[in-house]
Amino acid sequence: MNVFGKYVDYLAYHCNDCGGTFLARLDPDKCKLCGSNNIDLAENKRVCSHCGKLMNDGYVFYDGEAYYCSDKCLHQHFFEEEYIRAFNNDDAYWTEW
Ligand SMILES: [Zn+2]
Ligand SMILES: [Zn+2]
Repeated sequence: MNVFGKYVDYLAYHCNDCGGTFLARLDPDKCKLCGSNNIDLAENKRVCSHCGKLMNDGYVFYDGEAYYCSDKCLHQHFFEEEYIRAFNNDDAYWTEW
């Protein structure tokens, strides 16, 4: 299991047919909701590395190696002091997509 969370390799995708958004591991060929293959990467969403929630804003670590939706998920993998150290090195921050 990845130390940053079990959803580390997941990305958010948008379906152009049903309008839904879903998460999947690397290059799915179909929408999980309706089965259409008319899908794109959802540029304005990320997947929380810990809980798998789709999010519009959250923590980013190491240029996207890990994302967290909340302090609760963040603190499953990093102590507050570790976050502050990473933040001070520009390795972690909170943002909106
Ligand atoms: Zn769909
Ligand atoms: Zn989360």
